[in-house]
Amino acid sequence: MPSNAETTMISSYLRDIADFPKPGIMFKDITPVLGNAAALSATLRALSEPWHGKGITKVVGVESRGFLLAPGIAERLGAGMVPVRKPGKLPWSTRRAEYSLEYGSDALEMHVDALDPTDRVLIVDDVLATGGTAAATLQLVDASGASCVGAAFVIELTFLRGRSKLVAGHPNLAIESVLEFS
Ligand code: AMP
Repeated sequence: MPSNAETTMISSYLRDIADFPKPGIMFKDITPVLGNAAALSATLRALSEPWHGKGITKVVGVESRGFLLAPGIAERLGAGMVPVRKPGKLPWSTRRAEYSLEYGSDALEMHVDALDPTDRVLIVDDVLATGGTAAATLQLVDASGASCVGAAFVIELTFLRGRSKLVAGHPNLAIESVLEFS
């Protein structure tokens, strides 16, 4: 677990942007965290620490800010990195998972051969909000036959109850967030 001093330091670099990308959303901008050497290092350490010794072989990063975090975590865990992307972005054959948004739906894709049944997977993204994105990613991991060990986020918006969406059907899934906002 990161110390209180570390979480305070990381949160001091987090930027709240009101009404982005649309009215009513308080966007949690991690770019100042990434831009500061000490905050970046503390964040990657905090995201990786709980998973040492858990046999993680692949870290799945979710488009787009998961891409900024997953390779650093994978390198620390001695694992590979797998991108999960919006439809039509990956060049090879893909599997797709659809998920609902407030209005309408969206989808995520992963290469069909990115994971195999021997893999032990950690899902990574910047923010856990309603959990729809991470739950769709979890579906893609399940469809590959790999085991999802856990999910790691820099920020969890606990009032949106994304955690309960993720553990429904996956009671053994471990979820770790560096910063929680209620
Ligand atoms: P959700 O599917 O509702 O859990 O939303 C998670 C995804 O949307 C993540 O990929 C986040 O990057 C993004 N996201 C949702 N809410 C926010 C927020 N308040 N600030 C920044 N990113 C967010």
